Amino acid sequence: MNPTEWEQPEPINHFINEGAALKSLSQNKAYRIINSKKDKKQTQRFLTKSSIESTIKYFKRNMGLAITEDKIWTSQRKKKIPKNISDFLWKMTHDAVKCGKFFANIPTWADKQFCPCQEIESPKHILFDCSEFGNTELWSLV
Ligand SMILES: [Zn+2]
Repeated sequence: MNPTEWEQPEPINHFINEGAALKSLSQNKAYRIINSKKDKKQTQRFLTKSSIESTIKYFKRNMGLAITEDKIWTSQRKKKIPKNISDFLWKMTHDAVKCGKFFANIPTWADKQFCPCQEIESPKHILFDCSEFGNTELWSLV
């Protein structure tokens, strides 16, 4: 029998390899593949979505600017913004600044969730709403 006439055996399913070969997969390539498969809108945290929406509304209402979600993210990562400021903006957008509600579930630190004015602390409260530390005078100078 001629070798080309041999019937090819059916492949065994658990030996069929789909996807990227591990030996050629770098961390960068794996990260890009995973990110390309994610539906970013679906995986976005509720608090992040809420923060983005309120930022868009704020710019439209107070400055008359129609900004997009992409613009918010890209403007935070500009090289001229120092890394510590960029990190703070990222945490603000994700509502991940450790203050206020963050301390509520730590038994010995639960009292730290409150501002001296007795409101629950949040970055918004500290920067804009609280009058305990002279924020009104500070913002009038800006
Ligand atoms: Zn306060």
